[in-house]
Amino acid sequence: MRLLEITSIQRGCVYDGHGVRTTIFLKGCPFSCPWCCNPETQKGSGDFFVDNGRCLRLTGISSPLCDGCERNGGQRPLSSCPVGVCTPTTLTAMDVRKLAQEVLQDKSLFISSGGGITLSGGEPLLQAKELIPFLDIIRQEGVSIAMETTLYDKGMDRVKLLLPFIDEWIVDLKLQKENYREDYLGIMRRNLEILRASAKDICFRLVYVESLKVDEALTALASLEVNTLELIKCHGLSQSKYQKLGMDFKDYTPSEEAYQKFLEALNANNIKTTQLSV
Ligand code: SF4
Ligand code: SF4
Repeated sequence: MRLLEITSIQRGCVYDGHGVRTTIFLKGCPFSCPWCCNPETQKGSGDFFVDNGRCLRLTGISSPLCDGCERNGGQRPLSSCPVGVCTPTTLTAMDVRKLAQEVLQDKSLFISSGGGITLSGGEPLLQAKELIPFLDIIRQEGVSIAMETTLYDKGMDRVKLLLPFIDEWIVDLKLQKENYREDYLGIMRRNLEILRASAKDICFRLVYVESLKVDEALTALASLEVNTLELIKCHGLSQSKYQKLGMDFKDYTPSEEAYQKFLEALNANNIKTTQLSV
């Protein structure tokens, strides 16, 4: 049975699709948005959060536990720290049956709230093939499946592969210049055509950062025929994750004034917007 690369599993989520959901965060992403709130999903497996605040040596405590540690001039890698300075960003390899067993413990809550499982990340499309046996089990249990995705799949094969399993598509739009990839709008239009033809539930999401120009956003939204949007004001709550991953952090939280102007422009152009505070 294939293993999935997962960074975390969160129960009781209410912003990741209809009802109450358990969200599974998968590793890997074709983008590297500098304001990403899950930067641990961007890197490959085998990386660690390093919490220097827990390091005995750095806090001036002398301990035999540190004998042999590379930070103490020894050979033992930091990742083997006995006091937990390093934590892997990937959950212990979990086969799909164990994963299904874990997420299905809230099945009755999913059914009563109209919720289910949500795949997020990172970009779940990158593990499309590996996800199939897991999605098969969830389907057989009659639990709804949502996926938060950039939908950036050049070959369209991953979208087509997952299409029969996903009931609700949450499309995370990347309209900022910092995000653009080759033929972004073309790829999105082709994949959206597939989703729309399938009559699946689709909703669009956009994280607002101040560098996003109103005109560019409106043109892109028109080109993708998007007229309803969940808008998220960017925040800097993930700063500590960046520090623990040794990545540069910049706070992209926009001013309230710029955010409100953007919101007004969307309303003035008949784009129905719901504000999400996540
Ligand atoms: S073993 Fe190394 S990383 Fe862990 S507390 Fe000691 S010096 Fe720090
Ligand atoms: S697409 Fe999402 S997960 Fe990927 S880097 Fe951007 S914000 Fe992070």
